[in-house]
Parts: sequence; structure tokens; C-alpha cells
Amino acid sequence: MSDIKKVASVMDEFSRRSFLGAGSVALATAAFSGLTVHAQQQGKNDPASNPGQENDLLLRENPNSNMPPATDKGAIGPIWYSFDLAHKRIEKGGWTHEVTQRELPPSTDLAGVNMRLTAGSFRELHWHTADEWAFMLYGSARVTVLNPDGTVFIDDVNKGDLWYFPAGLPHSIQGLGQDGCEFLLVFDEGHFSEDNTFLVSEWVAHTPPEVLAKNFNLSPEEVAKLPKDELYIFPADLPKSLVEDRASVGGKSVEAQQQYTFKMEAMAPTKKTAGGEVRVVDSRNFPASKNIAAGLVMVKPGGMRELHWHPNASEWQFYIAGKGRMTVFMPTGRARTMDFNANDVGFVPAVAGHYIENTGDTDLVFLEMFKTQEFQDISLNNWIRRLPPEMVTAHLNLDAASIRKIPAEKQEVLIR
Ligand code: MN
Ligand code: MN
Repeated sequence: MSDIKKVASVMDEFSRRSFLGAGSVALATAAFSGLTVHAQQQGKNDPASNPGQENDLLLRENPNSNMPPATDKGAIGPIWYSFDLAHKRIEKGGWTHEVTQRELPPSTDLAGVNMRLTAGSFRELHWHTADEWAFMLYGSARVTVLNPDGTVFIDDVNKGDLWYFPAGLPHSIQGLGQDGCEFLLVFDEGHFSEDNTFLVSEWVAHTPPEVLAKNFNLSPEEVAKLPKDELYIFPADLPKSLVEDRASVGGKSVEAQQQYTFKMEAMAPTKKTAGGEVRVVDSRNFPASKNIAAGLVMVKPGGMRELHWHPNASEWQFYIAGKGRMTVFMPTGRARTMDFNANDVGFVPAVAGHYIENTGDTDLVFLEMFKTQEFQDISLNNWIRRLPPEMVTAHLNLDAASIRKIPAEKQEVLIR
């Protein structure tokens, strides 16, 4: 018997016992959570039934969208998108796809790009209007960035490391090792597009050759060798060692003082509880990261990123591993719950309340990103426990003993 038929026959059994009445949808949902999503809707005349078409694969990944919790209400705009739905631009040396304000219209602060470079391949020398924050998801890369004072930063980044390139500073990324790399880029402009950057190849292709000859001190024959089209992502040989590359540009005398890379995954957790870990990187521990703050969150099975909000920014999330669900709360009594899987993007409007619950049986890992200098959050629990108990009783009908059970300090990640 297929899963669907199995569940349908169990549902019929429930119907015979008059267990599944019109008002029992939520109960049935709870009873069958983890089973086939649309089979929950097979009951005859069930108000939530869906006898017409459905995208079964999509619904299985989004049970809380298919059958919202009874507490959900109204529309708050999109809070979910996936890189796996975005157009993938495939080049000879790798690929790129992006989730911007075009895909998530309320995300005006940040946009994201997911990029792959094979071993030796370059993301061409370029610069752009937005600040660039990046997290290495797989493999390793060599990055370079030039400061206005003529000093240069060259470093290698590995899985779990990040880099930050301020707007306008020219930089490069090259895949290393046996299989190159894959990384997430986050830009502090909602409409930022990876296809809209200043490329060195296009500049020389669109400058009169006699001007290039004068500027570079090159002969016309040499100028004729310059590229006529964009390179963007293209294959090349692996570079020399980091030490050799640093030496070949002039060594210590031209080395940047500013550190543009950071080992995020390897750092000690900012907060560690029985429910998981949080690592926060912002301008306080990584001074280069002036306009983007980030939290790398791990939530154990059964755990939850507690009910909270961020007083200073909207939140852009990237899901790295595991399964989770988030409900976003907005005025006036609106709430939306969505499910999140690896490679999905989540969005929380500025100051909107939310939690993220691990709904799987493996660690849930995600990045929460903010267009701000300093990561800030407010815990609902912490707020309640910083109020006179009588005030809490008047609002929430809880007696003093119940109030004392609520964690007094911000946990970030809870477990029960
Ligand atoms: Mn860039
Ligand atoms: Mn948050």
C-alpha cells in the first residue's frame, strides 16, 4: 500500500469514529504530522480538502504552508524563497544564481547570491556599489582586495570562513584545491545583482585603444591582446602558494593592515545552550564588517530559536542544513508559518516577531543576516522576566509561580 493510501485508510477509520469532524483539522494535522501532506486532506467534505491539482513535491516540503497552524492569520507578504528556484547562470568555470528583491520584494536591505567556482576558476576582477559579505559553504578560495591607499589583502578562505569587501573596493575570488568552492554572497542593497558589477574586462573593451595605450604605457599590439568581452566566471590555472602570491606583489610593504577575512565557524560560540549554539560576527569582533551583521545558528533536534525580534533591522536568512519552520508575527494579529530546508532563503520584516523551530531529526543550521553595524535582538522571555510579576499577570493571566518558570535570561536557542 502506498503512503497516501495508508494514510487515507487510517483517515477513513478516524471518520467512522466521527473523530475527524469539520473542526478537528488541526488535531488530525498533529496526529499525522510527518506523514504525507496531501493525504491529510482526503476526508470527504473536509473543509481543508483539496480535490483539485496540487504540487505534491512542493507541499511535502512545506506542510505548514499547505495546512497552516490554526494560529496563522492573514497575509504578511513573502517570507520564503529558494535558490533552487532561481535562474542558474552556468559558465565554463562555475555558476551563479541570486535571490534579490525581485524574488522577495519586501527584502529592501539585503540580497543574496550563491556561487560555484571550479578549481582555478575566477570570479573576474570587479567592484560594485554594495558592500559584499560572504560565507564559504564548500571547499576553498583565494581572495584579493585593494585598498585606496594602495595596500592589498590576499588570503585563502575555507569552509566556514567569511570575507567582507566594502563597496567600491576592487576584488577577486579564485577556486582552490581539487574541486574549487561554493559560497554565499550577501549584499547590502535589496536590488543588487551579480550581473550588474564593474568588470575589468568590460572597462578595457569599452575604452578607446589609444587611451589604453597611453594609460598602461603599452604598444598598440599589446593593447590589441586585451579582452573584447566580459570574462565574469572563467577557468584558469591554480595559483601559486599564498606565501608566493603575497611576495610576488611586493610583500610586507604593500600588505593591507585591515583584515577582510574571518573564521566564523571556527570561533567559540557567542552563546551555547542545551538547545544549540549561536556565533555572532559584526563590526565589534570583525571591524571590516561595518554594514552587515551575521549570526550562524545551530539548533539541535527538538530545539528552537526562541521568540524574539531585532530592534534595528530586517532579517535575511540562508538555510545551510536540516529542517525548520518559522512563524513571523506582524500587526494587526497577522502571522505566517513556512517550512525551510537547505538552500532556502527566509525573510523577516524589520522588528517583526519570530521563532525558528527545528522540525527535523538532524541539526538545523542557518545564517541570520542584518544590514546593521551591530547584531541586536530582544527576547520575549527576557522582556517578560524584567517586568514586575503583577504587570505580567495583568497581561498574560499567569500567576507568580508560572511566571518564574519562564527563562529570565535570553537563551537565543532553547530546548525542551
Ligand atoms: Mn563582488
Ligand atoms: Mn531573528
